Amino acid sequence: MQTQLADWIKDTPRGREADAVLRKCVHCGFCLATCPTYTLLGDELDSPRGRIYLMKQMLEGAPVTERTQLHLDRCLTCRACETTCPSGVEYGKLVDIGRAMVEERVPRPAGARLKRWFLSKTLPFPTLFGAGLALGRAFRSILPASLARSIPEARPAGAWPAARHARRMLVLAGCVQPSMAPSINAAAARVLDRLGISLVEAAGAGCCGGVTFHLNYQHDALAFMKANIDAWWPHVEQGAEAIVITASGCGTMVADYGHLLAGDPAYAAKAARITELAKDISVVVDVERDRIADVLSGRPAAKVAFHAPCSLQHGQKVRGLAESILQDAGFELTAVADAHLCCGSAGTYSILEPVLSRRLLDDKVRNLEAGAPGQIATANIGCMAHIQSGTHLTVRHWIELLDERLS
Ligand code: SF4
Ligand code: SF4
Repeated sequence: MQTQLADWIKDTPRGREADAVLRKCVHCGFCLATCPTYTLLGDELDSPRGRIYLMKQMLEGAPVTERTQLHLDRCLTCRACETTCPSGVEYGKLVDIGRAMVEERVPRPAGARLKRWFLSKTLPFPTLFGAGLALGRAFRSILPASLARSIPEARPAGAWPAARHARRMLVLAGCVQPSMAPSINAAAARVLDRLGISLVEAAGAGCCGGVTFHLNYQHDALAFMKANIDAWWPHVEQGAEAIVITASGCGTMVADYGHLLAGDPAYAAKAARITELAKDISVVVDVERDRIADVLSGRPAAKVAFHAPCSLQHGQKVRGLAESILQDAGFELTAVADAHLCCGSAGTYSILEPVLSRRLLDDKVRNLEAGAPGQIATANIGCMAHIQSGTHLTVRHWIELLDERLS
């Protein structure tokens, strides 16, 4: 695609990055078929190609309006379009730039600003979020049914093995996961302990920065990222092999630290190293899986439907690993139609765009339940809570299922 970026942006780092992405797009439209919002709304401006066009206009100096903001807000950042695109258009990078620019130019109504500010000041803080969750659990009986179902039952985390192995890896605690489902990281620690690896949570590390970044508080997000790097760095220097992430949404964010901090002289090199070390738990278990093959063989099958989060399959391009590990562990995976489509969770999307999110959830649950599974497994805390709000089946992280098989 030919571009002519406006003078005020073309020679800046953001301008050069956006231009490189735009020039790759040949307007073929292959991405339309796999875009959830285009599938639902049928409007070109709610497709990747339409949004790319809107951002191109903005970068070329056209006035920015509420219409641009609306269509970018409706994007889930699921990145299914990247998976489909034959030209390798990195839509995610472009939309990050486009959203930041729209935020600078188009003021939001006071109510919308307040909502976004409130989310940015609560969700990333585990103590605050944990207190809110405890209240939600206490008053579950008077909450609307779908909201009540999205609040997971308090499940005991179980024992976290002592750090007894020479091989060590870090694990991201995250922000909402410690209070919503502490059993996930504890299960990961037990599985890795069996594989001869000790999993350690570094004091001082917390939210990956994803919540604030996607709410367009990008400066705050960078502060979360730097705090994590500071907390992890001494462990990295002492030989931690990897930074294991059990929430694929957070994993996608941490994998982007190198890119997002590339212009920061104090953090660029460390951030690049963190990106190299960031691994989804499925990648780590996959490398070591031969060691547990004997334990798993011959176990009776149970039917599970697996939801592959967008952040795992499109964001990190990790496909099929958790599914094949579950199959090795004796689970029968049911067929799930439209597995490439988002469930509608997408960070804070389910709160900010509830109508579209609900339609995606209904479709997703129908497809997950079609094979009559006994439960649903996934790989991201946001998807887990969101899908749970739409089904009576239990939704869990797949590593918890594997942990139980190994116990
Ligand atoms: S598939 Fe890729 S090249 Fe084609 S319109 Fe979509 S983003 Fe552009
Ligand atoms: S990120 Fe997802 S919702 Fe956004 S344009 Fe791409 S496919 Fe559509």
